[in-house]
Amino acid sequence: MLNLIPLPAFDDNYIWLWHDEQHAVAIDPGDPAPLIAYLDAHQLSLEAILITHHHRDHTGGNLALRQRYACAIYAPVNPRIPATTHTLHHGDVVELAHPPLRFDVIATPGHTLDHLSYVGHGCLFCGDTVFGCGGGKLFEGTPDIMAASLDTLLALPDATRVCCAHEYTLANIDFALTIDGDNPALLERAAADRATRARGEPTLPSTLALEKATNPFLRFHHPDMIAFARQALHCADPAPAEVYGCIRATKDAWDATRP
Ligand code: ZN
Ligand code: FE
Repeated sequence: MLNLIPLPAFDDNYIWLWHDEQHAVAIDPGDPAPLIAYLDAHQLSLEAILITHHHRDHTGGNLALRQRYACAIYAPVNPRIPATTHTLHHGDVVELAHPPLRFDVIATPGHTLDHLSYVGHGCLFCGDTVFGCGGGKLFEGTPDIMAASLDTLLALPDATRVCCAHEYTLANIDFALTIDGDNPALLERAAADRATRARGEPTLPSTLALEKATNPFLRFHHPDMIAFARQALHCADPAPAEVYGCIRATKDAWDATRP
């Protein structure tokens, strides 16, 4: 039996953990402590780590975990990622024996240029590319680069479970409401996810269908978001990447007004 668990780390990260009651695979274990505690409590051995990108809150556990478990570490090519044992590129497949897992590797540059996402078993591990009702900041990429990555993710099946690396959903919903407040699916999600957080539960994984219906960063082809960008940019016919860029810039400005 395969289990998938979001382990909270730091203030708002999730370390996604697959296990079969014996062996485990972790995605983006930025902090080794909560992972080791869970593995010890459930008597699991860590067989492999998958890394989406080089930021410390995703890679900070590599050295300690490699030392303790001699696990394989799959990661994009980047010398800033410690202890990598297998480097990955777009189109590669990660095949693991224990637990039996298989992931397609998709390049999703934008948040960082090295960013990879992993797709398998009906799940998408998108790191800091897509969040619940939001998306990662453009630290290294451009709107064109990120919009192309998001188009790749939009082509995945609607039922895909979206496993993001941060619990930012409620703040993202607050922002989404400022530009897409008439969207009934968004209003419904706001109520549902606020209740989920009030119970202390994760809002993730969500589904790609829900993100397509509510997440402004995945709705840059939607007439309502195009209309929003038209007005904000004073441009009659913005390209999809410009619509995305406008939503990104509006969110960055909104973030700057908050404590
Ligand atoms: Zn990041
Ligand atoms: Fe992060």
